[in-house]
Amino acid sequence: MKKKGNILIPVFNESKGIEEFCNLIESVVPTDSYDFTITLIDDGSVDGSWEIIKNLKSNLMNFRKIKLTRNFGHQSAIFAGLENNEEDFVVIIDADFQDDPKYIADLINKWELGHKVVLARKVRRNGEFLKKIYTKIYFKLQNKFTQFTIPKDVGHYSLIDLSIVKSLSDLPEVNKFLLGLRAFMGSEVGYVDVIKNKRRYGNSKMSFKQLFNLSIDGILSFSTLPLNLIGGVGVAISIVTIFYTIFQLLNTFFNGGDFNQLNVNLLGLLFISGLQLFSLSILGQYISKIFYETKKRPAFIIEKKIID
Ligand code: UDP
Ligand code: MG
Repeated sequence: MKKKGNILIPVFNESKGIEEFCNLIESVVPTDSYDFTITLIDDGSVDGSWEIIKNLKSNLMNFRKIKLTRNFGHQSAIFAGLENNEEDFVVIIDADFQDDPKYIADLINKWELGHKVVLARKVRRNGEFLKKIYTKIYFKLQNKFTQFTIPKDVGHYSLIDLSIVKSLSDLPEVNKFLLGLRAFMGSEVGYVDVIKNKRRYGNSKMSFKQLFNLSIDGILSFSTLPLNLIGGVGVAISIVTIFYTIFQLLNTFFNGGDFNQLNVNLLGLLFISGLQLFSLSILGQYISKIFYETKKRPAFIIEKKIID
């Protein structure tokens, strides 16, 4: 019996390219050696993507078509796909041709060698200059804050073995961050070097704000170091303030200086108020995370599921 593979594609308003993309996948994956299922997660598209998805057919592959009730976001769409997986491995790939399906065969070969997770490592990225810089800074920060290393130059494009897919799906947290959790699993990782293309149709469906929120999510979900930092900054400010006060007192005593330097004090006060508000907001971020986790609301809701 052939081993089974699942190609998982999150879809949000990709009506222009989704059929062409599925055809491309079909033409490059080794359908002779494996039974493939393409899982399409329609994440609340409003451009008719679902109508196109519904009509997709293939003689060489199966389809699992899942429609979410509304737009739940990239991460939730991916986890909807993972939680519905029944195959031996899952390849997660974006629908916009940025991740080139020609590398799927290489990912599978690495999996056959025993790697439970195989990551597509971007050795070159065509375009997206600003995003490249942003991602560099993000990964530096993320890994400073996290106790295990989240591989850089790696995105969602990857192959994950069924055993890890199960563990990921079984994690009780609601707000799941794939890049972090995939690394958290600590399983045997293999790499395939890839060149990332430009998006073929339409614009990115992830605004900069979403990307920024995702990065903050990543850092806060995997580290409480920011909380400790607040304490550190607090202590540092106290020490500086004590020395400053002693200096002022001595200055007044010996040099007849004026201790009532209103402006300086006011500036100090404003600085500390700002820091306090900033610290409060970090606390707030963690509390909001706890708030959403305790509710245990599902990360996505499925409206329809079609097996073709
Ligand atoms: N996507 C999704 N839900 C969203 C936003 C995006 O399922 O809310 C899908 C999108 O259709 C694409 C993938 O996630 O297949 C990555 O999105 P995009 O290419 O827009 O992100 P970028 O590459 O710009 O980070
Ligand atoms: Mg993209």
